[in-house]
Amino acid sequence: MSENVEKYIKRKVFRGTSDKISSKFVDAGLEKIRSCINCGTCTGGCPAGRRTAYRTRVAIRKALRGDESVLDDVDIWMCSTCYYCYERCPRNIPVTDMIIKLRNIAVEEGKILDNHLVLADKVFYTTCHGVPANQPDQEKWRDLRESYGLPPLPPTVHSYPEAVEECHKLMELTGFRKLLDHANEVKAKQKEAQEKQSEEK
Ligand code: SF4
Ligand code: SF4
Repeated sequence: MSENVEKYIKRKVFRGTSDKISSKFVDAGLEKIRSCINCGTCTGGCPAGRRTAYRTRVAIRKALRGDESVLDDVDIWMCSTCYYCYERCPRNIPVTDMIIKLRNIAVEEGKILDNHLVLADKVFYTTCHGVPANQPDQEKWRDLRESYGLPPLPPTVHSYPEAVEECHKLMELTGFRKLLDHANEVKAKQKEAQEKQSEEK
């Protein structure tokens, strides 16, 4: 940077830009994100942003600049995937799909919220069900189904427990199990580092 420019720009920290994140959007066919004009219409209409600190435009800017801190940002999990931003965006950018992709990238790197990991691993993987209505303490769901004239358990692994093994096989083949294992490893390392830090204090 020339001396002349430095004279007028006082900022000493310059953020670098990279296409590390946005290149993955291109891979996913979401290259339209690069036509974002930063107008903020997505943020203005976002119902999730009214209740939380989540700002759609900010997440997009960070992703475009390659600012990986966006992957650690709890805010990206606040989006309710209502698609309102997509409808309003003047550039017709699939904003919601972009947020979903950001979450996918975060999870690939083992960055997943604790509650989501428990739900994905301990509930979904273990029982092969999002809402395991066959558990002893889940009688309310069975009652609800019966009140609509349905059998208490759906015709899923709950009715065919022998299919659990096949579901596990599918989750291994699709890489879902590997994602969970990686996320568990990352969490364990984080916990270890935190414990070490508090011991040193
Ligand atoms: Fe970018 Fe569209 Fe959001 Fe405007 S509404 S900031 S163009 S994504
Ligand atoms: Fe906000 Fe997500 Fe809805 Fe878009 S899809 S308006 S980011 S909550």
